[in-house]
Amino acid sequence: EAKRQGKGRVCAYSSDLVENVRTRLNLEQGMHGALQRNEFVLFYQPVIDLYESRLMGFEALIRWNHPEFGLLPPDKFISIAEDTGLIESIGSWVLDQAAAQIKKWAQQGRQDLFMAVNVSARQFRGNYFLNELKTVLQRHEILPEQIEIEITESMLQDFHSIRKMVLGMRELGVSVAIDDFGTGYSSLALLKYLPVTRIKIDRSFVISLPGTARDVGLFSAIMQMANSLELNVTAEGVETYDQSQILRTMGYPAVQGYFWGRPVAAEDYDEVWIKNSSVSGYFLDENK
Ligand code: C2E
Ligand code: MG
Ligand code: MG
Ligand code: MG
Repeated sequence: EAKRQGKGRVCAYSSDLVENVRTRLNLEQGMHGALQRNEFVLFYQPVIDLYESRLMGFEALIRWNHPEFGLLPPDKFISIAEDTGLIESIGSWVLDQAAAQIKKWAQQGRQDLFMAVNVSARQFRGNYFLNELKTVLQRHEILPEQIEIEITESMLQDFHSIRKMVLGMRELGVSVAIDDFGTGYSSLALLKYLPVTRIKIDRSFVISLPGTARDVGLFSAIMQMANSLELNVTAEGVETYDQSQILRTMGYPAVQGYFWGRPVAAEDYDEVWIKNSSVSGYFLDENK
């Protein structure tokens, strides 16, 4: 197939491939000492309550400050971390770091904020995770409801162990969210069998808002379902005022997206903003 497209094509293609493999190997090798060299950093994106015009919490999103390639987004390295098993130690660092940060913000007067943390399936292997979670809560003296663990449908290959984990987290009092909701095959099965506390509607749906009556209808239906199941809902990837406005009209309180704040380092948050965090200045009144 490739050969039929001519010799030049084949060369270009295979050198690309070699380049990719080389980069991957390079990243993999560098990742081994990256934790010790302090090269990972967490960025925090605000989650905003549209009704109260208030900060509700943050999602922690990892970055790798790579000495050669600069600041790398998770899509460039998380899968390598998962394949090599390094995700277990990186994941532990993320949880500890995120907990330390939410404690700092609690000490600045906001005990009500939560911190959402993404995890990979591999972190649920064995039964260490629940113990680790318990230890982190104790070490940083934070309330269990200040932590929200985000899982995805792709983790469902091992359904029984995920269900056990979710039950264990709920028993601890930790919140659990289904991330990227709606993008997998089994979103409804997840809701049926896992006692989660929140769904996060994927950006790929939000992007089509305000959209057609069908687009809007889909969001209204999801909200009705969430209300019946007593689930919290966050809309991800809100990039415009119009999207915020229509989500608010449809009863969506919690939003996350570039319109409200990009993920940035903890130092970039002003202490006064964290304390007051009234965002009403950004969001116009319904009557306007
Ligand atoms: P996610 O958990 O679904 O996170 C949301 C992603 O959407 C983030 O990308 C965020 O920066 C981006 N985003 C937020 N608002 C907007 C918006 O308005 N427009 C657009 N275009 N994008 C927006 P990011 O930080 O690159 O993270 C990508 C994914 O990497 C995350 O998706 C999550 O699945 C994974 N990830 C991030 N941090 C961690 C971690 O500590 N551990 C693990 N296992 N996975 C992580
Ligand atoms: Mg997430
Ligand atoms: Mg998501
Ligand atoms: Mg994702």
